[in-house]
Amino acid sequence: MRLNPRRQANVNPVQKSAHTAEFSAEVEEEPPSQVAAPAAALPAPETRPLRLRPFIKAVPNYPVSHRRKFIQIHYPGTTDQQWNDWQWQIANRVRTLHQLERFLPLVPEEKSALENLETRLPLAVTPYFLSLLVGRGADYPLRRTVVPTINEFARMPEEADDPLCEDHQSPVPGLVHRYPDRVLFLTLDFCSTYCRYCTRSRVVGHGRLFFNRRRLEQALEYIRRTPSIRDVLLSGGDPLTLSDSRLDWLLTRLRQIKHVEIVRIGTKIPAVLPQRITPQLTRMLKRHHPLWMSLHFTHPDECTPEASRACQRLADAGIPLGSQTVLLKGINDSVATMRDLVHQLMRIRVRPYYLYQCDPISGSSHFRTPLEKGLEIIEGLRGFTSGYAVPTYVIDAPGGGGKIPLMPDYRQGCSGGDILLRNYEGRIYRYPDSA
Ligand code: SF4
Repeated sequence: MRLNPRRQANVNPVQKSAHTAEFSAEVEEEPPSQVAAPAAALPAPETRPLRLRPFIKAVPNYPVSHRRKFIQIHYPGTTDQQWNDWQWQIANRVRTLHQLERFLPLVPEEKSALENLETRLPLAVTPYFLSLLVGRGADYPLRRTVVPTINEFARMPEEADDPLCEDHQSPVPGLVHRYPDRVLFLTLDFCSTYCRYCTRSRVVGHGRLFFNRRRLEQALEYIRRTPSIRDVLLSGGDPLTLSDSRLDWLLTRLRQIKHVEIVRIGTKIPAVLPQRITPQLTRMLKRHHPLWMSLHFTHPDECTPEASRACQRLADAGIPLGSQTVLLKGINDSVATMRDLVHQLMRIRVRPYYLYQCDPISGSSHFRTPLEKGLEIIEGLRGFTSGYAVPTYVIDAPGGGGKIPLMPDYRQGCSGGDILLRNYEGRIYRYPDSA
């Protein structure tokens, strides 16, 4: 298949940007948003243009054999090299009801939601992530994380578009300064795949927060003149959907600020688009240590051979990896599923870092669990698995109060100067609390 010239113009800016001066002109939009042509205009998957420009170095060494059948059925003629090219994955995302029903028989709750998404968080799923969903029912946990249902339209009184009040703690556009020594830097509003429970669904996917030099300089200037900031968390949207050269530019600028001790990147890429983690990317990232990464894994089925290889590459580049997992009803809200997830994460060199109580964002009631569920899960992990595998369970306080840790109470009272403690098996032990 060949691209028509217009389509080609849409597909190539990502690659082009990686090979040209990034800011020779004011760039108003992050290239991946341009790659994602208006959804209705995307060709059907079977007829997708697949041509690559000659200078693109796709990474062929992600395993493909177990995806072969899916590729043959849904993307016939696609080479392994194309499948493993992250920009091909982005250009071929599924974005509409019409496209999605070519892969999955949709239930009425999904169809109805997709017909009415309009200004809400859009639909976008990479072909790779779709390959994990085919052949599974509407209740399949991974499907529920990315395919909208009509439940998203139910608004509860306790919900808000911005429950964490990030917009009120934003000194300059795209920067949230809540804690004294660190800032959240929203680099762009683009993600390769949109999670239906996204805390920033008011921002992401709407094409309004661009990797724009003027805005970035404003944010950098704020960080520069605020010496208390020692930690910058790059988030979005997903910063790893930026080209290597843009990310390199931003990291270099941050590294030039003496009081910025560490930079963290928050990303879901290893779970939804592992092909993005290329040797070129990790080579570039290595130049900006100390660099940390907060990954976003939700369910053990995301820990595929591809995700494993992506995490291995990041870990081999010396980047400490932690996972931030949102507790979601019907998706990962059981001790067994969470235990499986944390074990899989440890195997792929990712430390389970936070378990988040789902934020009360608008339309999230079908995802939220009672607090007791989170405590039950932590109790089911602590003592039953390695301490490193037990995440910290937190609520991000509505109103902007920050993260508040929650723990099952193992103290059972006092007796004769001793404190009574319950261990993981429910046995009571005494500790002399006299010091
Ligand atoms: S990857 Fe992160 S920012 Fe993007 S939709 Fe998912 S949760 Fe939101």
